[in-house]
Amino acid sequence: MTQRKIHITDVILRDAHQSLIATRMRTEDMLPACEWLDQAGYWSLECWGGATFDACVRFLKEDPWERLRTLRKHLPKTRLQMLLRGQNLLGYRHYGDDVVEAFVAKAAENGIDVFRVFDAMNDVRNLETSIAAVKKAGKHAQGTICYTVSPVHSTDTFITQAKAMADMGADSIAIKDMAGLLTPAVTAELVGKLKKSFNLPVFLHSHATSGMAPMCQWAAMEAGVDHIDTALSAFAGGTSHPPTESLVAALQDAGYETGLDLELLDKATCHFREVRKKYHQFESDYNGVDTSVLLSQVPGGMLSNLANQLKEQGALDRIQEVFEEIPRVRKDLGYPPLVTPTSQIVGTQAVINVLAGKRYESITNEVKKYLQGWYGAAPGQVDTELQRRAVGKEDLIEERPANLIPKELSDLRKDIGDLEESEEDVLTYAMFPDQARAYLKQRRDGTLQPEPLESIAKGKSGNGVSTQFQITVHGESYDIHVTGANVDSENERRFYMTVDGVPEEISLISQGAVSEGSRSGGREKASGEGHVTTSMPGNIVDVLVNEGDQVSAGDPVFIIEAMKMETEVKATISGVIQRVSIAKGDRVAPGESLIEIA
Ligand code: MN
Repeated sequence: MTQRKIHITDVILRDAHQSLIATRMRTEDMLPACEWLDQAGYWSLECWGGATFDACVRFLKEDPWERLRTLRKHLPKTRLQMLLRGQNLLGYRHYGDDVVEAFVAKAAENGIDVFRVFDAMNDVRNLETSIAAVKKAGKHAQGTICYTVSPVHSTDTFITQAKAMADMGADSIAIKDMAGLLTPAVTAELVGKLKKSFNLPVFLHSHATSGMAPMCQWAAMEAGVDHIDTALSAFAGGTSHPPTESLVAALQDAGYETGLDLELLDKATCHFREVRKKYHQFESDYNGVDTSVLLSQVPGGMLSNLANQLKEQGALDRIQEVFEEIPRVRKDLGYPPLVTPTSQIVGTQAVINVLAGKRYESITNEVKKYLQGWYGAAPGQVDTELQRRAVGKEDLIEERPANLIPKELSDLRKDIGDLEESEEDVLTYAMFPDQARAYLKQRRDGTLQPEPLESIAKGKSGNGVSTQFQITVHGESYDIHVTGANVDSENERRFYMTVDGVPEEISLISQGAVSEGSRSGGREKASGEGHVTTSMPGNIVDVLVNEGDQVSAGDPVFIIEAMKMETEVKATISGVIQRVSIAKGDRVAPGESLIEIA
């Protein structure tokens, strides 16, 4: 019997941990499994791109390029795959074509074989430059359909998009179902139409969020799909992907060939099951099957980030309201698929709308740019009233946005100056200027330090049961039992504990009060009308006014960054600036009087 081959791409090194533990897996935890992964027989391993680049620089203090080179060395036999956001690359804005070309060339040079390229709006003009660059590097260019459900999307609109990508020279077509919205029937229809229309391999990437993905995989296979994405079971299910091992076993019995060795997969899985425990603090509360996604359409990565961000703000209890607001914001923006960066754009605006208690009282800069056309054409009609308010008198953009972006590589190189040790550093800086600058400085000074991980608590806190953990400082281990905590003031918290059996009392000052250059400690509470505050905790990006300035209600007074989005905060009343209690870089919280107008 001739067996049809189904090729498997495992996302364990990228999407799986991005979806389940906020992209925190460190390279050191990947390497021990590489030999098994490399021998197992995968068509490719997705291991780079998406949010991993950002997480490396921002949280893990790893050089993402170094990670890629290391993985390449440890995975010599298997194709390495990355997820690329078209003209956005791995950042959150459109880049000049010269940056896109340089980035793709460097990614190829450092080890990427397969580039899955997508655009959040499914605007194929935003894929042109990167697909051409991948072809130029002699690598596999995969055109991607971001699957979504809306009154303006259908399998026929996706076929039209696939045709445009095939005409650009894409080597294959991927169906990217980031939110797990595909149903088996639609999968069969879409895969069938793609196989009939084009002579290209079709890939299925479907998140397990809603519980339908395993059924969709089966439907896709019967409809002729060539490649399926899975995640090793240690990081499978929920907002991640269906388990690799289960699909391999199911296919074997049905006369399909995957070429994968279940015993090697099991070894790798056992390793990752242990690894996952180390990152327990990043586990989202939404890791099971969640059918509310069928209404909110919130994709996996966004769900775990949103939950984490709301948790940080002490507002996790409002996640349901945010879920209800997301579809409304999405409709106002002309039904973009929800995937980075549109998921952040829609998600953050929804959070602001909910926390502020009033819709669009403040509009993020990204929503403004989106409505102006800087991300490309919206799939449907945007709310023109909102567009007028957000964009003001500035022009709308109809053409490919990158046409309006001049070459920028040489300016970026000048900006980063002698922090540059390689061309890759310039590209890292291009992706995340502030984070990269901090990273490169720390690297130069030898002070790089990954964010700390919580130890695994052996007991439960509260009600007289102590939380126990061990810490090791300079090679010495201490056994610590936290027996109670008390909040003494807004910024100070006392902990009662025993260290190796000896009672201790320590007090911790909250980070805002002690961090360098920060003045968040001494601010008054916003009370009057003229006290400008923020609806979300965040960092001050820029202060636009000085004491003594005359402002009108609605004039922007400062810019805050929260949840990776910048928002202009506006004057609440007209008058004269009496007091400015913030400076660039300050960490601020809702309720604080940041600027006073009278
Ligand atoms: Mn994904």
